Amino acid sequence: MLLSRTHHSARPSSLARPATRPRGLVLARASSANVRVVVDTKSLMRLSKAELVELVVQLEQDKAELQADLALFNPKVTAGSGLSAADSAAARTARSLAESSYDDAMTSSAPAESSMLEAQAKQLDFDSTEALIQALKDGVAWPKEGTEFWKGAPRREGEAFVLSDDLQDVNDVGEEKTTRPLHVVHVTAEMAPLAKVGGLGDVVTGLGAASLARGHAVDVILPFYECIDTNQVEGLCMDRTFQSPSDTSGGQLTFEAWRGAIEGVPVVLLKPLASNFFRGSAIYGGSYNETQAYLVFCRASLEFMAQAGLQPNIIHAHEWQASAVPMLYWELFSSTMSAKPVLTIHNMDNTGECRQDEFGATGVSGETFASVDKALDERTIGHNPERLCLLKGGIIYSSAVTTVSPTYAKETLSGGGAGFLQSTLARPEVAGKYVGILNGIDNVTWNPATDPFLPACFSSYVPEGKAICKAYLQRGLGLEEDPDKPLVAVISRLVPQKGIHLIEHAAVHAVENGGQFVLLGTGHAAGGLQGLANDRYRDNKNVSMMFMYSDALSHLIYAAADVFLVPSMFEPCGLTQMIALRYGGVPLVRSTGGLADTVFDVEGGGSDDGSLGAGTQGNGFVFHGVDGYSIETTLDRAFAMYRNSPEAWKALSQRNMRNSISTSWEQSMSSYEQLYLGVQ
Ligand code: ADP
Repeated sequence: MLLSRTHHSARPSSLARPATRPRGLVLARASSANVRVVVDTKSLMRLSKAELVELVVQLEQDKAELQADLALFNPKVTAGSGLSAADSAAARTARSLAESSYDDAMTSSAPAESSMLEAQAKQLDFDSTEALIQALKDGVAWPKEGTEFWKGAPRREGEAFVLSDDLQDVNDVGEEKTTRPLHVVHVTAEMAPLAKVGGLGDVVTGLGAASLARGHAVDVILPFYECIDTNQVEGLCMDRTFQSPSDTSGGQLTFEAWRGAIEGVPVVLLKPLASNFFRGSAIYGGSYNETQAYLVFCRASLEFMAQAGLQPNIIHAHEWQASAVPMLYWELFSSTMSAKPVLTIHNMDNTGECRQDEFGATGVSGETFASVDKALDERTIGHNPERLCLLKGGIIYSSAVTTVSPTYAKETLSGGGAGFLQSTLARPEVAGKYVGILNGIDNVTWNPATDPFLPACFSSYVPEGKAICKAYLQRGLGLEEDPDKPLVAVISRLVPQKGIHLIEHAAVHAVENGGQFVLLGTGHAAGGLQGLANDRYRDNKNVSMMFMYSDALSHLIYAAADVFLVPSMFEPCGLTQMIALRYGGVPLVRSTGGLADTVFDVEGGGSDDGSLGAGTQGNGFVFHGVDGYSIETTLDRAFAMYRNSPEAWKALSQRNMRNSISTSWEQSMSSYEQLYLGVQ
């Protein structure tokens, strides 16, 4: 097969691991001249069928030229076995071969699938593939309707088994070690799963783990929130107490620094004593001044590094909460440390407005930064008092600034996505250091083949578990237990950014058209959806909306979803659509920010009959409008394909699980690594 995927997990011998593992897909192999061309998979995902075929033909021509060159030096190499540029008949043959191989690879991978399934059954000591699937079904501890079933064990005792990971080789490739190890210290308000509210927490853990896997040293500094479950921290122990300034008149706060690890990533938790900062039952929204709390935390993070004798190469600050770190670093610490500060902006909705006197909580007067070229918020010029913008300060004082997708980076430079910060980002000295790097998802946490939250694991080669997960969720939530109803899901913070009015339209439309709708979310904009849940859909067997936060339930919903909805007004990156892909869901998204970078319409902008035409490269459904009609017609297309072309839908779901390679941290990690090295 021309488009041969090199990533398989339970490998029959014919799919043995190559001696040197390439990063991406092997596109062409020259038989006599031992040439192998590897194209990075993310780029490949962007190519249309025609472009891909042209690329293959071009590679064949290059191969011929290379062989001719090699033949000059080595008589064992036969010149001319490749394709000459002038040979149009051979070019036609190569093109037609490439086209049919493409169609094979994209639409019918049945033979490979059945042999992978057999290999999987054998590996797990089952006599047959049927026995494997039966065991998956038999082990389920079916939930009782109306209970908090997501808190219980999803499988009967002793009945758990995991499958081989679709992306095993991708994860392995990510473990190739760097030759230039760096020490990276992250300063952040969130880290999953310990202190997670949204994607920020996932990204810090995922990037930290990917950096470690590459051989870099990593520390993550995080506030010691009162509400965290310390059982989630491996090896938690007190490292030291230290003093850190908390005002401009010599006031100090005593901090305890606790060390441990989250999913193997070293963490330092800073606890201010004799203060109510970071107390309360939630990560955000405690009854203290949040701006001051994070300012004190920023100063304490740098004090900790200095007092612990850390000499990081990179101090990686995240969001407005950590933006004072680069500012304070250059002001106070750069004479004794030789780090370079990097800032990642995960969302420009919150910019960290700060009164100048509030900034004094760092021990440094806010006046130091109160000029337009530093951190002054231009919108407040002439006000009394004028204010600072912490995110602006972070942008100005960092050696490199990233945001979380290329399209969002573009939007913030042109389309108003950055609000008043657009002019800061457009400054020539900033534009050169500002880049969009797509987030990945943590392939270990989000892995349907091994996920302990699921009643039945699944992979692209053993997809039966997904149907079991759907039935399990339907039963637990009291929905009609119908495998054929398309289950539409949303997992989201419920804030205006997420397109709440479109979610409401979709809920009604999905149910009116014979589907089911499941939502998990919290947020101040939940009102309309709560109204629907309490009135129109009270006791409806096809709707379930849960206004709460639950990691366990989120895993179950990703696993059960057929269509996963992300109709955001803007979306810096978005992780939920990527997780949905990994779990074999089909995302339906509004084309903005990172959604535009990760979800491609199955019709490639073509017909509206919902069929998956040959050669389409899509992985979901995409719309552009902000009106109800846009999302409704897109939902219609998805339902049409689900009902009219079940085989194509199944193939799409399985392909999405396998192609989640494009959402792993591997690619993003190498972009971050280049960025880290580039600022040294
Ligand atoms: P954002 O960072 O804007 O919230 P992302 O899509 O980047 O959006 O990340 C959201 C993350 O938070 C995902 O991991 C998602 O599963 C999780 N999440 C959001 N809401 C909930 C909820 N109510 N319960 C559990 N997990 C949630």
